[in-house]
Amino acid sequence: MRILVVEDDPDISRQLVAALQDQGYVVDAAKDGEEGHYLGDTEPYDAVVLDLGLPIIDGVSVLEKWRRAGRKMPVLILTARDRWSDKVAGFDAGADDYVAKPFHMEELLARVRALLRRSAGHATSELSVGPVMLDTKSARVTVNGMAVKLTSLEFRLLAYLMHHKGKVVSRTELVDHLYDQDFDRDSNTIEVFVGRLRKKLGVDVLHTIRGMGYCLSEPDNAA
Ligand code: CA
Repeated sequence: MRILVVEDDPDISRQLVAALQDQGYVVDAAKDGEEGHYLGDTEPYDAVVLDLGLPIIDGVSVLEKWRRAGRKMPVLILTARDRWSDKVAGFDAGADDYVAKPFHMEELLARVRALLRRSAGHATSELSVGPVMLDTKSARVTVNGMAVKLTSLEFRLLAYLMHHKGKVVSRTELVDHLYDQDFDRDSNTIEVFVGRLRKKLGVDVLHTIRGMGYCLSEPDNAA
C-alpha cells in the first residue's frame, strides 16, 4: 500500500515516514501544500496523511481540490489540539478521519490501518484468503498457521493483493502502489516477485490472469 504524507514540520514528517515504512507501506513525502496537492492529484495513493497548516496551499484547500477533481483516496488530517473548527472544516472538505497534534504514533498507525481496510471493505485487521492470513497490525503472514518470512517487497505485494482480494490487479497498478515516486519502475520485475511470493506461500491462491494481471482468491476446490 502506498501512502502520501503531507507535513511541513521536518521532524514530524521524518517520524511519520519512518513509522509508516516500518509497517511495510511505501511512503512519499511532501513538505508544502502545492507539492502535496500535485502528488495526490497525479499519483495513486491508498491513503494520505495531511497536515492542515501547510505553506503555499493550506491542507483544507488541498483536500477540497482533490475531492472536486474526483480523487477518492482516504485522507487522515492532522489538526491542532484545540482547533475544533479545523476538524469541522477538514471533514466538510472530505477528510475521513483526524488525529490531533501532538499525537501518539501508535494511534495514527491504527487509524491508517483502519482507513485502508475500510476502503477495501474489510472489517478487521486480519486479512485472509484460503489458508493465507495477513495481520496488518503486526505485519505477519501465516499459511495454515505457520509463519512465512517475506521480504518487504513481497509483503507489500501480498498486502496490496489481499486488500483487493478477488479483483484482477494489473502489473501497472502494482508498480504504482508498490514503489515510491523515485523508484526506477520496471513492470517486468513484478513477474519475478509474484513468482517468489507464490513459491513462499506454497498454496494456490495467487492466480495469473493472462494479459490482464493477477488475482488473489481462494484456492480452487479440487473436483
Ligand atoms: Ca504544519
